[in-house]
Amino acid sequence: MATEIGNRLWRFHGGLKLRNYKVMSTDHAVLHGLPIPEQLILPISQHMGIPARPVVEPGDKVLKGQVVAIGDGFVSASVHAPSSGTVTAIAKRLVPSAAGGTMGISIVLETDGEDKWIQRDGIRNFETLAPDEIRARVSNAGIVGLGGAVFPSHIKLMRDIHQTVETVILNGVECEPYISCDEMLMRERAVPVVTGGRMMRHALEAKRCIIAIEDHMELAGRVLRGVVAEIGDDRVSVVDVPTIYPQGGERQLIETLTGQQVPSGGLPVQIGVVCHNVATAAAVQDAITDGIPLISRYVTVTGPGVKNPSNVEALIGTPLSQLIEACGGYTGDVPMLILGGPMMGYAMSTDDLPVIKATNCVLALVSEDVRETQKEMPCIGCMECVNVCPADLLPQTLFLHAKERQLEQARSYGIFDCIECGCCAYVCPSHIPLVDYYRVTKNRIWKIDEQRQKAEHARRRHEFRERRRQRQETARTDHLRERERALDTKDPQDAIAEAVKRSRQHRARRHRKDKD
Ligand code: SF4
Ligand code: SF4
Repeated sequence: MATEIGNRLWRFHGGLKLRNYKVMSTDHAVLHGLPIPEQLILPISQHMGIPARPVVEPGDKVLKGQVVAIGDGFVSASVHAPSSGTVTAIAKRLVPSAAGGTMGISIVLETDGEDKWIQRDGIRNFETLAPDEIRARVSNAGIVGLGGAVFPSHIKLMRDIHQTVETVILNGVECEPYISCDEMLMRERAVPVVTGGRMMRHALEAKRCIIAIEDHMELAGRVLRGVVAEIGDDRVSVVDVPTIYPQGGERQLIETLTGQQVPSGGLPVQIGVVCHNVATAAAVQDAITDGIPLISRYVTVTGPGVKNPSNVEALIGTPLSQLIEACGGYTGDVPMLILGGPMMGYAMSTDDLPVIKATNCVLALVSEDVRETQKEMPCIGCMECVNVCPADLLPQTLFLHAKERQLEQARSYGIFDCIECGCCAYVCPSHIPLVDYYRVTKNRIWKIDEQRQKAEHARRRHEFRERRRQRQETARTDHLRERERALDTKDPQDAIAEAVKRSRQHRARRHRKDKD
């Protein structure tokens, strides 16, 4: 039954009710057809996994949709030209990152204004495609999770022979304040969202596809339900979930819909669920039906620091400054520019950064919105953080271990289950920047794990070489012993004749070699 899951909802632990500020960017249509930027910056690492490998060189002319860097590692994603033009450089450029901007290898494309497409290969009836073909087309199109995780989507469409996927969840829950690009996408592109969800269900041979939206998204819900009814696929349904932060977290959403918790350190597929973002679903349908790779996305440009907050359809590689300009420019002084939402986003030092596949929101805040950094006080053990933690962790204990650099204890208290939602820091009366502590601690643990892995690898290599040396040594000793035994049992005259013969053969071989 398509509606078994979703008929009843569960409640995950903790979370916060936040003012959402979305209406400032949802009361008008998405801006399409922005001028093509003269220059597009295309980082080769816009996804989780191995960076894509450039397959063009400076001076090459490329067409819109052409692969410029191929994702040929197992966990990787290709990068395509968002417009036609000439590659002018492959070099380090400032690209968005958690540090606000870091230098990353990028393909620099000077556009020619013609916007000329490469020949495209789409297919109308996706049900004639085998699941493997769907995965291959998704991989070729460079599609990654557009909810922020940017994990290559074709991998999440692989079926594990040991685990059956019952339910594909399309995550349309956009719980962070201000961000509304998914809501607008569902309103404006409901057919691609629903069709993309059906394609993913088909690829995973799952029983059902549930599109989860927040209960305040009435218009998006109406449009999606209308499309589902028109298509008449009873394996697809739309479910409203309560608006509570961070309902859009994958684990929290799965718990709300199924009542089941994803095991700590595990994956949703272990409980028969695969979760994709609604924008990823739309990108999948674009790739399969029209042969369009991932070269653009919806971005929310909002906040009191922007004159006309809006959602815009932007080509990957477009400078953020151009999106701000399309939305009327800044209202005045903007002391803080955030990439993402106010809870989980990152402060940026400049708007001279390109849109990448992960870019969902640019938030410009004015002085009144920016609280002065409060002095960190000692933890008073009030347990407020425990009450709001949606991952059911003990944030204050994690904090103490993080502060004391007790990395193994932090690991055992589940630091890697922390989704960095910021609820704990939001309520902490001692103004402890808890998420910063967790991020630093995770990085420290990752580095130590990496060093351990390298040491383990070196140890194995050394052992392997040692075993091989011993094997060779033993073989040589055995061979010498064998010869000695043979000599002992032979007639001395025969042994001398054989030695002379071997010596002649050896000289003849050397002579031949010298002549060659
Ligand atoms: S940031 Fe981590 S520890 Fe804090 S509330 Fe969120 S999940 Fe829990
Ligand atoms: S909310 Fe802050 S002060 Fe209270 S227990 Fe948690 S870390 Fe300590």
